[in-house]
Amino acid sequence: MEAQLIQSAKMAALGEMAAGIAHELNSPLTAILGNVQLLMRDMKDGRPGKMLEDIYQCGLRSKKIIQNLLTFSRQEEYQLETMHLSSLIEDVLGLVGYQLAVSGISIRKEIDPTLPPVRGSRNQIEQVLINLFLNARDAVQGKSNPEVIIGTCLAGSEDRPFVSIYVLDNGVGIEEDYVSQIFNPFFTTKESMKGTGLGLSVSLGIAESHGGKLLVDSRVGEYTRFSLLLPIQENEGGEEYEKGASSR
Ligand code: ADP
Repeated sequence: MEAQLIQSAKMAALGEMAAGIAHELNSPLTAILGNVQLLMRDMKDGRPGKMLEDIYQCGLRSKKIIQNLLTFSRQEEYQLETMHLSSLIEDVLGLVGYQLAVSGISIRKEIDPTLPPVRGSRNQIEQVLINLFLNARDAVQGKSNPEVIIGTCLAGSEDRPFVSIYVLDNGVGIEEDYVSQIFNPFFTTKESMKGTGLGLSVSLGIAESHGGKLLVDSRVGEYTRFSLLLPIQENEGGEEYEKGASSR
């Protein structure tokens, strides 16, 4: 019993330390990514451009790991706000879109502009979408005509409506046996430097803490679609939606 207590105290201390380090690394990494992105715009062609892309790709992977570690250990601060889905998606594409495009992946948008806004933590929802995009990118690597679609639509029922943000790729798909495991923390099929297995478990936690869901639909060798369902706020959402609609 005592040994068990010591062990769990050690794990807690370790978790706190990991979260502390992740927190400290997050700001400089965000600054590095921002600057590399600016440089990439100026130096698209030639060797320096390619080197910058590699730096950006590694930085983005590190950011995903750090963000997920922070959320996993629940050391992250967040604020709730009302968000229009199209601006949220544009922001995420600003971060990952160029990266996918230079890997030869075409990105298609299927955004329904009439959907109401959602309320939640912008950072966390962006984190889910970044996780889904980077997974989609890994899944289509080496495929001919790789494509990732991001879209929005209504989901749920009349008395429990949701908006759905989906990320659909035409990549390798997920083996049936794995579907029940992919949301478990530390489950990964990727080589060690490429995956930590925290992305989907953290993303599911974020979806649920927003009163939503994270669903998957996949066929091996054909496609994978992840859908992030977020509840529509009955009163507040409706009002905000009116405001948003009139300012468009
Ligand atoms: P990681 O990306 O670090 O492996 P995740 O939790 O994000 O961790 O994903 C867990 C596993 O789920 C991946 O290793 C992969 O096997 C599978 N997976 C996730 N997204 C996709 C996808 N779009 N297509 C195919 N497999 C996927």
